[in-house]
Amino acid sequence: AHAYKTQRDYVQFSSSLELTVQRNITLLGDLAKALRANELTVHYQPKIDLASNSVCGAEALIRWHHPLYGDISPSDFIPQAEQSTLILEITKNVMTQVTQQIKEWREQGVSIPIAINISSHDIMDKDFVARLLNELDKADIPGEMIEVELTEGALINDLAHTQLELLRLSRAKVVISVDDFGTGYSSLQYLHRLPISVIKIDRSFVQNLPNNDGARHIVDAAIGLAKNMGIKTIAEGVETPSANAYLRKIGCNSVQGFYYTAALPADKFIAWYREFQPLSVD
Ligand code: C2E
Ligand code: MG
Ligand code: MG
Ligand code: MG
Repeated sequence: AHAYKTQRDYVQFSSSLELTVQRNITLLGDLAKALRANELTVHYQPKIDLASNSVCGAEALIRWHHPLYGDISPSDFIPQAEQSTLILEITKNVMTQVTQQIKEWREQGVSIPIAINISSHDIMDKDFVARLLNELDKADIPGEMIEVELTEGALINDLAHTQLELLRLSRAKVVISVDDFGTGYSSLQYLHRLPISVIKIDRSFVQNLPNNDGARHIVDAAIGLAKNMGIKTIAEGVETPSANAYLRKIGCNSVQGFYYTAALPADKFIAWYREFQPLSVD
């Protein structure tokens, strides 16, 4: 509590830049503390296969409730964590929580592959792949139950290195997907050089479906390209029945978004899953 009081006193005299820097330093320290105290939780957002209208997976999304600032978005604190080695610790923590969760659900007869978000720093870490495979081994989970989501930026950062690491993962049947597809300012080279199984079409395009011509052309092209390359597609950020129906019409494999549900804590997720699963209406 003292630290915060000190910070508040300090803040009164600072320019807004200093304030931002100071707040970020505090935030990073608090994040490290929260991690050590196991206060970072994971929520799960379902992925729905459009052909069968059934849950085909889930994405693990980290959640942090700060004692003072309340819920902080991972879009705010993950980039912070990426400034230090804390990101590696966060990924380890998420990996452990997720593998335990998969194991627990499998023991209850529910087999749901789960995707984790991987930072460029993780894929550059020479121990990352071994660590992930070891976690799978420990929890007795086959590789295909885990998916890793990487952004285009993370994939092309060091293409030669990434290629080797991803090959190790794909040999173990771990599913590799491109997150936020279409937003990364990168060439498409990596698509045929890396063992990519899935592209996740970014929400910025999906949210403007079906009426916005620009968004629709990009989504059509992305799905066409993926199909030709034997890559599966998922659209993220599906919020409306019309976007969902359009994606089904053009043969997008699966969807994820608030139209179905936001990410939920594990117990709520499984309750949602049991309720949704028998239904097949759109
Ligand atoms: P992302 O991997 O692209 O995750 C999708 C984001 O879109 C999530 O935000 C999700 O809650 C949100 N979302 C899903 N459906 C909808 C929708 O229909 N409408 C809207 N407006 N949003 C939707 P979230 O959970 O805030 O995460 C933001 C980003 O933070 C993620 O983007 C990912 O880049 C990063 N992140 C989250 N968890 C982790 C993690 O465990 N590790 C790492 N390295 N990054 C993470
Ligand atoms: Mg993701
Ligand atoms: Mg995304
Ligand atoms: Mg994103």
